[in-house]
Amino acid sequence: MPKIKDIYAKEILDSRGNPTIEVTITTESGAIGIAKVPSGASTGKHEAIELRDNDKNRYNGKGVLKAVNNVNTIIKENLIGLDVTSQEEIDNLLIKLDGTYNKANLGANAILAVSLACCHCAASYLNKPLYKYLSKEENHYLPVPMMNILNGGAHSNFSIDFQEIMIVPINAKNFKEALRMGAEVFHKLKELLIKLGYSIGVGDEGGFAPSLSSNEQALKLVCKAIEDANYRLKEDICIALDVASSELYDEENKKYILKKDKKEYTYQEIVDNYYIPLISKYPIISIEDPLAEDDIEGWIYITNKLKDKVQLVGDDLFVTNNERLLDGIKNNYANSILIKINQIGTITETLKTIETAKKNGYTTIISHRSGETEDTSIADLAVAVNSLQIKTGSLSRSERIAKYNRLLTIEDELTNHYNEDKVTYLKEKSFKA
Ligand code: PGA
Ligand code: ZN
Repeated sequence: MPKIKDIYAKEILDSRGNPTIEVTITTESGAIGIAKVPSGASTGKHEAIELRDNDKNRYNGKGVLKAVNNVNTIIKENLIGLDVTSQEEIDNLLIKLDGTYNKANLGANAILAVSLACCHCAASYLNKPLYKYLSKEENHYLPVPMMNILNGGAHSNFSIDFQEIMIVPINAKNFKEALRMGAEVFHKLKELLIKLGYSIGVGDEGGFAPSLSSNEQALKLVCKAIEDANYRLKEDICIALDVASSELYDEENKKYILKKDKKEYTYQEIVDNYYIPLISKYPIISIEDPLAEDDIEGWIYITNKLKDKVQLVGDDLFVTNNERLLDGIKNNYANSILIKINQIGTITETLKTIETAKKNGYTTIISHRSGETEDTSIADLAVAVNSLQIKTGSLSRSERIAKYNRLLTIEDELTNHYNEDKVTYLKEKSFKA
């Protein structure tokens, strides 16, 4: 049995220059597993707690020495000697040691770093790639990439209201081709922005972040870039939005405020007078967080109207939490879930939520955070669970590209590529929209 011999955490930096945690786990037999945890900016209210030091003298209060210390003391003391391949037992123990419903005690960042490092260590001990170790499936398929080439919202000082405009190749024969299509459009968008005199600086996820006059102008530019790269809108490449509308919601007045457009909407208005016209005009097949995290009435309303036409993705809504997803399933809202490992904090819980989604016909998107590291575990996770989609940023910034490059390596190792049935789901959305 590969017994855990040592656990060591340290403070490192993420892609925004903020502290995060790296954990190394070693077994008595010498297997090693390393994991680094990501961090969000537009964090959902219901996410597990990321423990920060709040010591204003270090990193503006964002240090993670308390979380690091939790790993190096209480977690280490309790995990030494356990079988590193008993992931569920380890994760359940981590949850128990924390003792809160949202991991506020030890910190979801501390817990995730350990949970994920165990997976890496076990995979290494068994001489398996991570995606094979994590998987119950016999066949593996590559996910369709949703590439965020235009950044807005909290990731670029609200240069536009939408947080993300992503391109989704639905007509690529494999992952490699889908990635190439994305990169070509990204470069055409750059040319276009230069020609029009806009900034080509990038936001947190590597997409361009020009300050535009309206949200629709952003959509027009992305469509033009797709066509400039010689792809057909709708047939070859579609668009996915992450509105991240919890950030735009005025809870007191129950209004969505789109500052760029100088417009305010109730949930009925934003669905009927904004989203519906928008999806009939542009090849939008997916909208993430179109309504705010606690606007359940709004979610039910949009799901009734659009569930057959568009993928309606719950991010802040579900926060990768199985119980919250079950509420959505029971009460018929959303039809897709974003999966972020640090929203929930352990790999066991993440896999459970994905299983619930699959059983109930909700599509999954495995996702990075806006603050990332060179850790590529989510690429393996996406393949392990045969997720329809992955979103891991634009075609720039190495912490984003690292995940795409990892997927290229996995694709090389596998004989099968896309699952045609899966891509058909996206194609159907494209033609119904
Ligand atoms: P975050 O953004 O990591 O800043 O939360 C990503 C997203 O909202 O999908
Ligand atoms: Zn989101």
